[in-house]
Amino acid sequence: MSGITFSNQAFRKNLTAFFIVAVIIFACALIGIFGRPLFFLAIFWPANAVLLGLFLRFQNLNNVGGWLGAFTALMTADLITGNYFLLTLFLTIANLLNPIVTLALIRLFKLNYKHYNRGLTFLYLFVISAFGGCLAAPVFACLTVPYLPNTFMSMDRIWIDFGMWWTGEILNVIAFLPIILAFPEKNTFIGYIAEYHKKPFQFKTLLPLIAVIVSVTLTHFFIGPGAIMFPIAALVWASLSYNLFFVSIINCIVCMLLYNSLTAYYITQSPDAYLATTISVRIGLFMLALGPLTLTIISLNRQKLYHQILYLANHDGLTTTMNRRFFYEQSERAVTEDTEKKHAHSVTILALDLDHFKKINDQYGHVVGDFVLQEFTKQVKAQLRSNDLFGRLGGEEFAILLKDLTLEQSIKIAQRICNSVFSTPIHLDDHRELNISVSIGLSYQTLPYCVPFQQLIKRADEALYQAKEKGRNRLCLESNLNFERTLDVPQNLQMP
Ligand code: GH3
Ligand code: MG
Ligand code: MG
Repeated sequence: MSGITFSNQAFRKNLTAFFIVAVIIFACALIGIFGRPLFFLAIFWPANAVLLGLFLRFQNLNNVGGWLGAFTALMTADLITGNYFLLTLFLTIANLLNPIVTLALIRLFKLNYKHYNRGLTFLYLFVISAFGGCLAAPVFACLTVPYLPNTFMSMDRIWIDFGMWWTGEILNVIAFLPIILAFPEKNTFIGYIAEYHKKPFQFKTLLPLIAVIVSVTLTHFFIGPGAIMFPIAALVWASLSYNLFFVSIINCIVCMLLYNSLTAYYITQSPDAYLATTISVRIGLFMLALGPLTLTIISLNRQKLYHQILYLANHDGLTTTMNRRFFYEQSERAVTEDTEKKHAHSVTILALDLDHFKKINDQYGHVVGDFVLQEFTKQVKAQLRSNDLFGRLGGEEFAILLKDLTLEQSIKIAQRICNSVFSTPIHLDDHRELNISVSIGLSYQTLPYCVPFQQLIKRADEALYQAKEKGRNRLCLESNLNFERTLDVPQNLQMP
C-alpha cells in the first residue's frame, strides 16, 4: 500500500516538474527563436541559463519529469518553427548539455551554490559554467551538426561557429542565471513592498538607474571602441545602491543593449572581421557584467556583517537584551525625541532585579544561573511590545522603558511581569523545576520633561530598593507618585 502511495506521489512530482519546466522552457525557446531575425537579439537564447537556474533553485524540478519537460519543450519549439527532426534532436542535445555538464561539475566540486551570494561562490559558479556547460554545448554541436544534411554549420568556418556559440552561451548565462537565482522569494518580495511603503519615495534612489540609462544611451550616439566602458561607473553606483535581483536585471538589459550598439559599430567599421570582433565583444560584455554582480554581493555581505557586528556590540550575548550602554543611549534618545517632537506623552521606567539570585548560583551552579537569566528574559519579552526598550544593566539587574502609557497601564504591565515570572517554573535539563521571583521598581514621568534620563532610572532604582526591603517578589512605585487607585491592587503591589 505504502509502495503504491509512494510511487503515486513520485509520479505526481515528476508530472508537475514536467509541466512547469516544459512551459517555461518552451516560452524561453520561442522568445529566442523569434528574437533571431531581430539583429540585436541574435545572442538572445535564455532557455539554457533559465533551465540551469530552475534546477539549481528548485530541487523539486530536477527530476526525470523536469528533464523530459525541457527536452520536449526545446524539440517542440524548434520543430514547429521549421527545423527538421534530426537537426532539432542534435541541437536539443547540445542545449541540454549546458545544464547537464554544469550541474555535474557543481556536484563534482561540491560547490555550495545555495550560498551563491557569499564569498566568491558566484565567481566560481560562472567559471564552472563558462568552462563546463557553456563549452560542452558548442563542442558537441561542432562535432556533430556539420555532418548532418541541410545544416547551417560547416567545417570550413567551424572555429567561428564554435567561438560564436561558446561566447553566446556564456553571455546568456551571465545575463539570465543571476535573475533566476536572485529572484526574490514570496516573503522577501513582501518585505521589499513593505519597506517601499514604509519609507517615503526619494528621487535620489532612482539616480543610479538614471545614470545607467544615460550612459547606455550615450553608447548609441557616441559609438566607438571605448563604448563598452561607458556604463561602468553607473553600474558600480547601481551595484552599491540596489539589491542583487535589481542589479541582475539592469546588467542583463545593459548587456543586450551594449551588444546591439557595439556590433552595429563593428559591422560598419570592419565587415570582414565582424565575426571575430563580435566574439571579442561578447567576451568583453561577459567580463563587464561580472563586475557589478560581484560588487553587489561583496557590498551586501559587508552590510550584513556590519549589522551583525553592530548587533553584537549593542546587545548582551547571554540574554540578547540591550547592553547597558545601548539601553542608556536609546532611552535618552527616545526621551529627548519624544519631548522635542511631542510623539509620546509619558515614559515609564521599570528597574528589575531577580530575587536571591546568588542562592540559585550557589545551589545549582553558574550554568543553571545563566539558563535562568535567559528564561527570565524570554518571559519578560513575552509581556512587552516590539518598541519597548529592554536592557541588562549588569548581573541580574535589568531595566525597561515603556512609552506613552498611563500610570495604570504601566502598573498593569509591571505587575503582569512580576506575576508571570513568579508563576512560571523554569524547567531544568534533569526534569527539576525552579521557581524564581523578581522585584520591580517603577518611575513614571509625563512629557515634556526636562530632568536627565539618569534621574528617572535613579528613581526607579530607589523604588526597587523599597521592593527588596518590603520582602521581594513585588512592585513598588516611586515615592512622589500620586496614584489614584482605580485598579484592583494586587497583593504584591506596594503603594508608596
Ligand atoms: P537580592 O534578592 O537582594 O537581589 O539578592 P541577590 O542574591 O539576587 O543579589 P546579589 O547582588 O547578592 O547577587 C547577585 C548574583 O548574581 C551574584 C553574581 O554571582 C550573580 N551573577 C551576576 N551576573 C551573572 C551571570 O551572568 N551569570 C550568573 N550565573 N550569575 C551572575
Ligand atoms: Mg538580585
Ligand atoms: Mg542585584
